[in-house]
Order: sequence, then C-alpha cells, then structure tokens
Amino acid sequence: MFDLHKRLSILGATGSIGRQTLEVVRELNLSVEALTCNSNIMLLAEQILEFKPAAVSVGTAKLASELISLLQIKGLTKSEIPEIFTGKEGLVTAATMPGIDLVMAAIVGFSGLEPVLAALDSGYDVALANKETLVAGGPLVMDLASRNNARILPVDSEHSAIWQCLNAVPDYRFNKIFLTASGGPFRGFNSAELEKVTLSMALQHPTWNMGAKISIDSATMMNKGLEIIEACHLFSCRPEQIEVVVHPQSIIHSMVELEDGSVLAQLGFPDMRLPIRLAITWPERPPAAYHNAFDPFAPSASELSFERADESVFPAIGLARDAIKDGGLSPCILNAANEAAVKLFLEEKISFPEIWQIVAGEMAAKRTNITDPDYDILNFTHHDTIDRICERYL
Ligand code: NDP
Ligand code: MG
Repeated sequence: MFDLHKRLSILGATGSIGRQTLEVVRELNLSVEALTCNSNIMLLAEQILEFKPAAVSVGTAKLASELISLLQIKGLTKSEIPEIFTGKEGLVTAATMPGIDLVMAAIVGFSGLEPVLAALDSGYDVALANKETLVAGGPLVMDLASRNNARILPVDSEHSAIWQCLNAVPDYRFNKIFLTASGGPFRGFNSAELEKVTLSMALQHPTWNMGAKISIDSATMMNKGLEIIEACHLFSCRPEQIEVVVHPQSIIHSMVELEDGSVLAQLGFPDMRLPIRLAITWPERPPAAYHNAFDPFAPSASELSFERADESVFPAIGLARDAIKDGGLSPCILNAANEAAVKLFLEEKISFPEIWQIVAGEMAAKRTNITDPDYDILNFTHHDTIDRICERYL
C-alpha cells in the first residue's frame, strides 16, 4: 500500500516540474518538509501558505527578508513562518533535512548538482528531473547513490519510460534504447532556416510546456544529447546502444529492445505529472484522481510516425555523444558551454546556431585530461567555462 505520509523536499518548487510536483502532492495529500526557489518569492509565498513546509530556501539574504515581509502581509505569525535559508548552503540544508523520505531535484542546471550529492550522501532517495546533474557529474552521482543505498528515480519522461520497461526485465538486460524526441519546434528545418530562428519561435515547444532552458535545449536538440548522457548513467549502457528516434506525436515516451529481440514501449498523452507521480509513489502506483485517458483513435495518437534525427542540421546530439565517449571533464564542459550559450541566446546576444557553435568550440579547446573529476574540479570547470564564454559577449 502506498505510504501517504511520505515527506518531500522539493528543490526548484517554483519551476515547471516543481509546480507539477506540488499538484501531485496536493492530489496524494503528502507532506512537504522543504521548498526552494531562486528568486520567485511571490509564488513561493503562496506555496508556503498552502503546503506549510518547515523550511524554505531562496537565492539571497535580501530575498529572504522580502519573503518574511510578504508572509507577514499575508497574515502569517512569527511562529507560522518557516525557517528560511539562503544560497547554496540553503539548498544543501533543504536537501538534507532530517526525516525526509524523498528529495525532488527540479532545479535547472548545474546548480542542482551540489544539493543532489548532499541528499544522496544523507542516504535519501532522489527523484531526478535535473538532468544537468547527471550530465556534469554522472559518475559521482551514481557512485554516491550506490554507496549510500539511495535510489535515483528518473523523472525525465523518456527515462521514466525506459525505467518502466526495464522493470519488467530480469537484471535490466537489454540490447538497445530507442530514445524518442518530438523533434522540437524546428523539426524539418534546414541549416539556412535555423539561421533565422528567433527567441520567441524557439520558446514554442510543440508538445510540452516547460521552463525556458529546456525549451531552448529541445529546439537545438541538445536536450536529446543531454538525455543520451543521462541514460548512459542511469541504465549503465554505452552511447552506441542509444538510438534517437524523432517521434513528433510524443505518444511513445521511449522503447527498449531486449536481448531476445522483444521491444517494450511506454506510451500515453504527454503529461509530466505521470513520471513525477511514479517517481514519488514507486514502487506503488496508486490510482490517479486526474487521468488523461489514452485514446488511440485521437488525431495525435492514431498515426504514430518515426524519423531519423538529422545530425548534420542539429549537431548537438553528436557533440553529446562525443562528450560521453571522451569522459572525464568533457560532459561537464559540454553542459557548462550549453548553459552559457542558452543564457546568451535568451538574452538575445547570440543567434540560434551559435548555441551549438559555442559548445563545439569549447569541446574542441578542452585543455585538460582529468579522468575522475571530484565535485570541486567540476564546480571550477563549470564556472570557469561559463565566465570565459560570457565575457566575450559583455
Ligand atoms: P524551470 O526553469 O521552470 O524551473 C527551475 C526551478 O529551479 C525554479 O524553481 C527556479 O527558481 C529554480 N532555480 C533556477 N536557477 C536556480 C539556481 N541557480 N539556484 C537555485 N534554484 C534555481 O525549469 P523546469 O522545471 O522546466 O526544469 C527543471 C529541470 O527538470 C531541468 O533540469 C529540466 O531539464 C528538467 N526537466 C524538465 C521537464 C519539464 O517538462 N519542464 C521535463 C524533463 C526534465 P525561480 O523560479 O525562483 O527562478
Ligand atoms: Mg525528456
């Protein structure tokens, strides 16, 4: 029977995944021990009123004092206001609070790595949406999880699909993963057309409603590249075992070919609450109050199609494959360069193709051959890469 008393810490509660996690919390009547955000204290205040966490964390001390004023205006007494932490230490505190059953890692980017490592170090299970964590620090994260007997429960829809399929397979043995991709808003574009892409065009994803960074990653298909690396770590496989399949309807969330030739798939209408809910309730599957009932005759489901990704037009997938094959600091550099380039594109300082051109440039210029970087080396490399790239566009 599913334990309805599960206590969660939600890192990145104000984001797309964080908000949908709270929908699941509301539906299942779970308790929330901690919530974090970076700067959206207006929404965090609403969440505090509804979910009454014992602690929260925000980006800065200034935001913390603004949050206190906001909560007082909303009528909370001193004793009703949660403990408020700040900055990187605040995230680690939220991820390691006593009595947590599960940490939802829904921060975007490398900033999510340190609290995930801290949660695993405390032996806590982590529901992992924050794919950059595995891209930048995969070996560290997986090693810490196994040493502390902590589970990493995939939230990314494709990885949840693969995980669901593999749970029906003895010893998780398989030949190959078909990692599905919607193709993003620019499916079928050629290189000349990609030159003219604008920010608002890139932010429109055809099938999923997500945060800004992952929306741009989906448009460049770097999201699929990051997901190849994520899958290699989660399912202990080689990048050659993963084939990207463009599937514009986003009905099949991924497929696995087993050693006996059977192919398993997980499917349904796109709805991130499903993988979020499964990561929280695993190994149970309590009945859902809301249910986007699958209809195979619906226009989006009645004709499923599959195409090869055009890696000559979308080089990000190949760059990610190179990074995981190269190992060491390469995936961290790939991720950092991409974070910097996406930020510059969101600020309209670079063109769309410059995103992967910047990443390719950083990968080619890699200066070190460290094979097993620890967190401090990853952290230095990440920030050094971002600073050097951003300096060029001041
Ligand atoms: P959003 O941008 O919507 O939300 C990000 C969250 O992280 C917000 O709560 C934000 O706070 C917080 N945050 C951002 N930067 C920092 C920082 N430096 N320090 C602390 N907190 C920070 O992202 P998504 O919810 O879309 O994505 C979250 C993660 O999940 C990403 O790694 C993404 O790739 C992955 N994912 C998302 C999917 C989706 O459908 N959205 C699907 C699959 C994976 P604030 O609101 O204050 O800025
Ligand atoms: Mg995904």
